Amino acid sequence: MKKTPLAIVGFGKIARDQHVAAIAGSTAFELVAVASPHSHLEGVPWFRDLDELLKGDVKVGAVALCTTPQVRFAAARRALEHGLHVLLEKPPGVTVSEVLALVDVAKQHGSVLAASWHSRHARGVETARTWLAGRALRRVTITWKEDVRVWHPGQAWIWKAGGLGVFDPGINALSILTEILPGVPALRGARLSYPENCETPIAADLELAGPGGAPIVANFDFRQTGPQTWDIEVETDRGTLVLSRGGSVLTIEGREVATPDNGGEYPDVYARFASVVAAGRIDVDLAPLQLVADAFLCGERVVVEPFIE
Ligand code: NAP
Repeated sequence: MKKTPLAIVGFGKIARDQHVAAIAGSTAFELVAVASPHSHLEGVPWFRDLDELLKGDVKVGAVALCTTPQVRFAAARRALEHGLHVLLEKPPGVTVSEVLALVDVAKQHGSVLAASWHSRHARGVETARTWLAGRALRRVTITWKEDVRVWHPGQAWIWKAGGLGVFDPGINALSILTEILPGVPALRGARLSYPENCETPIAADLELAGPGGAPIVANFDFRQTGPQTWDIEVETDRGTLVLSRGGSVLTIEGREVATPDNGGEYPDVYARFASVVAAGRIDVDLAPLQLVADAFLCGERVVVEPFIE
């Protein structure tokens, strides 16, 4: 099968850490260009931005948009208008309406649009989803606490409006939650802690109602030092499940469960993108972003001490 020539737009941490290797291992895509204002990949044609790429002589059929979220919409719209297949890093947009508009543009131009949620490809997630189907929820507890200085060094965009603050990792938990629950959770309340010098929250406590009304609580915190925690515990009428380490480890009734090896989160993201391209589909699930938007809609705002990196 001929591979689709793909460009990475926005060559930062996630592009370097995950996308390059996942594309190299893909049977469907070939990396032919990088478009990024300052960052290069040796041996791969470089363009300053998407516009330069589109004017250049490298033929591209798809783009992976790995920019900061705040500039993703303009690039995505332009790529879709050019008939390119578009893979959006998470979050798919800064607002829900941006993403709805992109879906509309994709439909108008017959382009493929895929919103990736990499944490849904963590290896315990699919088994957890299957196990939870048909069980009645009693309670869900999400604890997503990490040290922003370790995981996001120098990423000033996270603290600017649209950068999501602690929801940048928190949305990963919500992407897993909305994937594994046998129904739709409703956000009921939120408490958002904003450093006095930042436009986005450093911590967030959410309360949701799960299917059947079961309580769901989520605690997101960027100030965690020492052990880092990315856990989701689900109590049901027939046992308790824990997804830990960001969804990669699954424990049921206290015993770790073997889960199928899907090749890793990002190889599986690209495998899914390949199937979406082959089918000429739009693959956009807004549920995680909608929950974040709802938290900003109804959340109580608390001001906390300034964040100094
Ligand atoms: P990052 O290291 O700050 O990289 C962002 C990149 O965007 C920068 O390298 C910058 O390019 C580029 N950029 C900015 N404006 C651009 C424009 N107009 N056109 C093209 N490129 C532009 O951030 P990151 O950690 O990679 O995160 C990027 C996205 O991936 C975020 O949405 C994040 O949520 C998501 N993500 C991150 C991780 C992670 O572990 N870091 C994991 C999963 C998903 P230059 O360097 O050339 O200036």
